[in-house]
Amino acid sequence: MGRIAYVNGRYVHGRDATVNVEDRGYQFADGVYEVCEIRDGALIDMTRHLDRLDRSLRELEIRWPMDRDALQIVLGEVARRNRVHDGLVYVQVTRGVARRDHVFPSADTQPAVVVTAKSTDPQVFANKAKEGVAVITVPENRWDRVDIKSIGLLPNVLARQKAKEAGAAEAWFVDRDGMVTEGGATNAWIVTPDGKLVTRPAETGILRGITRTVALEVAEAHDLQIEERAFTPDEAKSAREAFMTSATSMVMPIVRIDGVSIGNGHPGITTMALRDSFYDKAEKTLL
Ligand code: PLP
Repeated sequence: MGRIAYVNGRYVHGRDATVNVEDRGYQFADGVYEVCEIRDGALIDMTRHLDRLDRSLRELEIRWPMDRDALQIVLGEVARRNRVHDGLVYVQVTRGVARRDHVFPSADTQPAVVVTAKSTDPQVFANKAKEGVAVITVPENRWDRVDIKSIGLLPNVLARQKAKEAGAAEAWFVDRDGMVTEGGATNAWIVTPDGKLVTRPAETGILRGITRTVALEVAEAHDLQIEERAFTPDEAKSAREAFMTSATSMVMPIVRIDGVSIGNGHPGITTMALRDSFYDKAEKTLL
């Protein structure tokens, strides 16, 4: 986290950025979040992130904590106050503070909102992308509403930790039908031996990643053949290329899955083309 956070209406120093112990986010993971990239002094795809926040809130019947324009200003302000030129801004909205009880609190309970921002070094990601990263596969064990960007991320936390312990950057969940759903915090893609771009449809089993949506637009602009369908770990292991997408890592080449080398073991040409032209299609809102 940077030095300044926005917590329920106030900009506060990190040490004062605290939430109530009866915040329903803390007790029940009863909340949603978004992570938006900041690149070269601009918020990337903020409109889409706020659209998805709106959808997540509606699905869980949580009210907006403030109006959308105001939140947009807060996102920019937190980034500016932390002097983030490249990095991430995080927004979390929970159902608010109420005496602990599973059922929703009274309708006048004010949702709680927290916004933080931190700097990241784009060169670190660029260097990683030059090498490519490894992923492992793990059994899918999440609930079936992963389309909601909920703060309940325990399976994702455990999967990512397992990946780290295996020397990998990400874990791909594999559902009961033996198909890859997505990564712990990324969407999953492959390029088939005949050059088709494949990623799972966003209708089931995955979060509709904003980076995924933009990458599809970039792929269309490149006249790539796109198949939105599920794929197995075996198909991925014999793919020409594999990669993952997220606001944090943009388009990140994958060169190993469960220890099996992908393609020639180096980042693929299609992956790198998508990575290189990603910002041509992304929306930029200057800070
Ligand atoms: N899938 C999951 C489970 C995620 O947590 C994320 C991002 O955090 C993504 C996919 C990628 O989404 P986006 O491209 O909007 O960052």
